[in-house]
Amino acid sequence: MSNDTTHGRVAVITGASSGIGEATARALVADGYRVAVLARRADRLQALAAELGDGAIAIQADVTDRDALVAAGRRVHAELGAADVLVNNAGVMLLGPFTSEQREEQRRMVEVNLLGAMTATEVFLDQLRDGGGDLVNISSVAGRTARAGNAAYAATKWGMNGWSEALRQELQPDIRVIVIEPGAVATELPAHITHAETKQGTEQFYEQLAISADDIAQIIAFAVTRPRTVSLNEILVRPTAQSG
Ligand code: NDP
Repeated sequence: MSNDTTHGRVAVITGASSGIGEATARALVADGYRVAVLARRADRLQALAAELGDGAIAIQADVTDRDALVAAGRRVHAELGAADVLVNNAGVMLLGPFTSEQREEQRRMVEVNLLGAMTATEVFLDQLRDGGGDLVNISSVAGRTARAGNAAYAATKWGMNGWSEALRQELQPDIRVIVIEPGAVATELPAHITHAETKQGTEQFYEQLAISADDIAQIIAFAVTRPRTVSLNEILVRPTAQSG
């Protein structure tokens, strides 16, 4: 719900064309934020921004393309004002055995999940510093537990956790760094897995217990609306039925 503290604050969400990012845009708009939604699929972003109304803008940007992020930063500043919140959410989970056949996908996960978040952060850092910002990094249970078949994905999320903890110490108190570590969430994430057996197993696991993208969005909205003296550094959130 909108209140005086959040009204008019500006949030930038990467990977907002589906899943957790899209749900987070909705949740933050409901809290009175103006939002810039970023991803590659422009049609989905435009439909979302149109639904969210005047305070929302759609920006096509691949997080592996620094020039596109710099241009996005300029547009956000010009059209909405300086960003107060950056949600580093864009990600891919291309699970499978660690073999040469998966080489391109392993590199892509590092490029998008980890380097994409780092690039978006350095591009928006000055805007976030200006008036008390929040950096929300979407990690994963895979940032704390590693399993056969998720080596490169886990590396990106463990990397994100280490990077975030160092940044938290470096950027406080001007910017709060908040790490969110979801378990299984029903989104299109597993649909992009190309290793057939891994895809089938992962989709079956998700069908049994995944929680909704909105469940995570509500937690993100809660974290960024705490008083500035309170910093939720790390939130691990699994479906109740998920053990590991
Ligand atoms: P989705 O596949 O629904 O969302 C991923 C988003 O990332 C899409 O909007 C996609 O948009 C965007 N994206 C992918 N590649 C790029 C790129 N190169 N540049 C910009 N945007 C990109 O899955 P989720 O919502 O589940 O995933 C969101 C985050 O949550 C990810 O970081 C994921 O690792 C994390 N997560 C998800 C869990 C789950 O169970 N679903 C559990 C734990 C963490 P587009 O293709 O239009 O560019």
